[in-house]
Amino acid sequence: MRTTQHGKHLTQVTKFPGFFPINAYFVGEDDGLTLIDTGLAGECRGYLAHAAALGAPIVRIVLTHAHGDHVGSLDELHGALPDAEIIASARDARFLRGERGLDPDEPQSPLRGSITTVRAPLTRTVNGGDRIGSLAVVATPGHTPGHIALLDTRDGTLIGGDAFMTLGGPAVSGTFKWGFPIGPWVTWHRPTALASAHQVLGLKPTRLAVGHGPVLEQPGSAIAQAIAEAEAALAGGRHA
Ligand SMILES: [Zn+2]
Repeated sequence: MRTTQHGKHLTQVTKFPGFFPINAYFVGEDDGLTLIDTGLAGECRGYLAHAAALGAPIVRIVLTHAHGDHVGSLDELHGALPDAEIIASARDARFLRGERGLDPDEPQSPLRGSITTVRAPLTRTVNGGDRIGSLAVVATPGHTPGHIALLDTRDGTLIGGDAFMTLGGPAVSGTFKWGFPIGPWVTWHRPTALASAHQVLGLKPTRLAVGHGPVLEQPGSAIAQAIAEAEAALAGGRHA
C-alpha cells in the first residue's frame, strides 16, 4: 500500500493487487478518521497501520457502493474496530445485506460488477443530502443503483468512488478507456452514471478523488471533457 496526502484532510491509500490500482481514503475529522471504502479482502492490517501512522483512530467507515473492491475488508475491519460506525447508502445497503433485485422504478439493466454481501452490521444508512461529519452525501447512481460520492464541505474535495475513473484519463463510470478497459463491464447503467456526472460537475469540486486512478486538482475541465466523451459514446450507441 502507498499513501499520498492531498490538502489538509485527505489521505489516499492505494493498493496494487494486480490488474488495476484500488484507492481508499482517510478523511480527517475532529473526532478521528473516516475511512472511505475498504479495498479488497485481506487489507485490514494495512489500513490499521496507516491510521496509526496518521495518529488518529478510525471512528467511521463509509462505503461508496457495494462492489467487492470497495467493501472487501469491511468484515475484517469491523472485527478489529467493533465500535466504528459503518455507513452505506440506503439503496446499496440492501445489496450488502444480500438482495440482488432491482426496484420497479429503476432502469432494468442487469447489475454489473462484484456486488458483495457483508456480515458486518451497517450502523447507519444515508441518502443524498445527508451529512457524515464534514462530508455531504451526493447521490451518484449509475455505477451501482445506490452509488454515493462524498463532498468535503471544508475544502470542496469530492470523493467520487467509481462515479468517475481517472486511470487512463478522466472518465465517467462506464466509459471505455484503454487504461481501464473493464469500465463498461462493471457499470450498471451508463445514462444514469452520466446524469450523476453532470450533477457532480455542478457542485464545482476543487479536487476529485476516485476509486481507480490519481487524484485530480481543479477537476472541472477534466470532468466536463469526460462528460462530453460519455455523451458521444452513448449517442454513438456504444452501450455496454
Ligand atoms: Zn471499484
